[in-house]
Amino acid sequence: MFKVTISRVFKRTEDVMSFQFSKPQAFEFLPGQYLLVSVPKNGKVLTKPLSISSSPTEDFLEVTKRITGHEFSNVMAELRVGDEIFIDGPNGNFTFKGEYPKVGMLAGGIGITPLMSMMKYCTHRRIQSNIILLYGNRSEDNIPFFEDLNRLAKDNNNLRIVHTLSRAGDSWKGRRGHVDSEMIKEHIQDYQERVFYVSGPPGLVKDCVQHLRSLGVIDERIRTENFVGY
Ligand SMILES: Cc1cc2nc3c(=O)[nH]c(=O)nc-3n(C[C@H](O)[C@H](O)[C@H](O)COP(=O)(O)OP(=O)(O)OC[C@H]3O[C@@H](n4cnc5c(N)ncnc54)[C@H](O)[C@@H]3O)c2cc1C
Repeated sequence: MFKVTISRVFKRTEDVMSFQFSKPQAFEFLPGQYLLVSVPKNGKVLTKPLSISSSPTEDFLEVTKRITGHEFSNVMAELRVGDEIFIDGPNGNFTFKGEYPKVGMLAGGIGITPLMSMMKYCTHRRIQSNIILLYGNRSEDNIPFFEDLNRLAKDNNNLRIVHTLSRAGDSWKGRRGHVDSEMIKEHIQDYQERVFYVSGPPGLVKDCVQHLRSLGVIDERIRTENFVGY
């Protein structure tokens, strides 16, 4: 368990906030791992798992939280620069640092956080793995990390990102609807050659795994991170 001091807090969208803090000495993690984050509330301590949205190649740690209006979110949303929180970890084996030559990533909403760490890592380290991300959100102004994703795709020729929106406005020129088997077939034509990383709230992960299975992708090629708690 480490005590860390918040160095930066900011909104990524209307209901998504990022929290940055310094990396404790000798703290090491793999892209995709998560922390147990503990915050004080009226004399008790609230603890939740949160994926690390920064990359091991960056000199700070970052977690990114969807602010739901529930107890843990409310405390997180009140955090300011200089506040202290506790972190424990790193935890988890939903990790990627270039082990596979071809990867497919399927994410919805806040499920992007562990994948963000992986994509930043692969870009910064010039990893040659080819990555295609299919990313579903509600609307244009609701896409966490939109600018960061654009920048990564520009900097990394091996990374392609396709957005889809379930409630897009009239001006949206991209794809509409959820990540489904049609979208996978259209945008990841070599899906049988890829290892898939699926991340997000449990319902979305379940649906995406079903879509992959319906296309004949075997379970050994599907890795999942379930954001239990949503
Ligand atoms: C491995 C892993 C990684 C994760 N990574 C992330 C991440 O990167 N970002 C992220 O945002 N989330 C992540 N999550 C989910 C996160 O841990 C939380 O569970 C989730 O964000 C819900 O947070 P909350 O603020 O709504 O929590 P809570 O305050 O605990 O609310 C959760 C639910 O509990 C119920 N509840 C809470 N308080 C009350 C009350 N007083 N009375 C009745 N019901 C109540 C509500 O139904 C609510 O929907 C991850 C989860 C896992 C397992």
